[in-house]
Amino acid sequence: MHYFHLVSIIGILMSCAYDKIPIRPYLTENIVIVVMDGPRYSETIGDSTHQYIPHLWNDMRDSGIICTSFFNDGVTFTVNGHVALTTGFYQSIDNTGLELPAHPSIFQYWIKDHPGNSTYTSLICSKDKLEVLGNTSDYQYKNKFIPTSDCGINGNGSGYRSDSITFERVMSALTTIKPKVLLVNFKEPDFSGHTGNWEDYLTGIKQTDEYTYQIWQYLNNDSYYKGKTTFIFTNDHGRHLGIGFQHHGDGCEGCRHIFLYAQGPDFKKGILNSQHASLVDLHATIKELLHLQNSQTEGHVMYSLFKEH
Ligand SMILES: [Zn+2]
Ligand SMILES: [Zn+2]
Repeated sequence: MHYFHLVSIIGILMSCAYDKIPIRPYLTENIVIVVMDGPRYSETIGDSTHQYIPHLWNDMRDSGIICTSFFNDGVTFTVNGHVALTTGFYQSIDNTGLELPAHPSIFQYWIKDHPGNSTYTSLICSKDKLEVLGNTSDYQYKNKFIPTSDCGINGNGSGYRSDSITFERVMSALTTIKPKVLLVNFKEPDFSGHTGNWEDYLTGIKQTDEYTYQIWQYLNNDSYYKGKTTFIFTNDHGRHLGIGFQHHGDGCEGCRHIFLYAQGPDFKKGILNSQHASLVDLHATIKELLHLQNSQTEGHVMYSLFKEH
């Protein structure tokens, strides 16, 4: 009798110690991330007129959350910023597409958890080099669980393509394949910023705001996505302040300060959130929503975005 009790007690203790943390139920089934490449905060949310992001500010804002203290706290180049978001780690990775991320991505963990569903994860990017986001040099995940990739003219090494093509490919994927985990990169305004043409840089922000609004409208009206999709709109990095807008890549406020818009069935609506957070925290938040329990991250879940249950 005593022995039986002892075994029972040990059994209960063991089961408590080894139980997984209970999974919180979320309404989110799909995640769509749009990255506007390289605008400064001073031309987006930080501009009091919001003239270059009219759709984000006037049409989308009340349905989601805008984070006003959101940053790239790592290296402020394109591949680095995207890798922080997709892997949860700030890494000094080559910015030309010649090096794989050291850690597996949200895509790979999702595909591992959903065998046979790799076609439902997708990278659709104007910049060819971002194809590296789908793979990793981690020996357990390298060349495994690779998402569908449609980057640049024809994959890594083929060169950038127009954002208009990327936009068409995104709409086509949303209406046919219906991806459940999708990352989109628009190369503007970064591409025009690098030319040093201020007007083209501003036009690049406005055009990306327009494309993104159309994607957002589709997700909020389509019966497959509506009410089950978390939509993220952010940047990989900013640019130097003042007349230095042509370039980026250091730790200045202009390069680090970016925006985050987050909308979804598990998030609050119509608020500006001023808590400091960064790209790896967005990774942690996506990992939480998708229950990617095997994924590691440097970031912390942004619980302040979530509705209180
Ligand atoms: Zn960039
Ligand atoms: Zn800078």
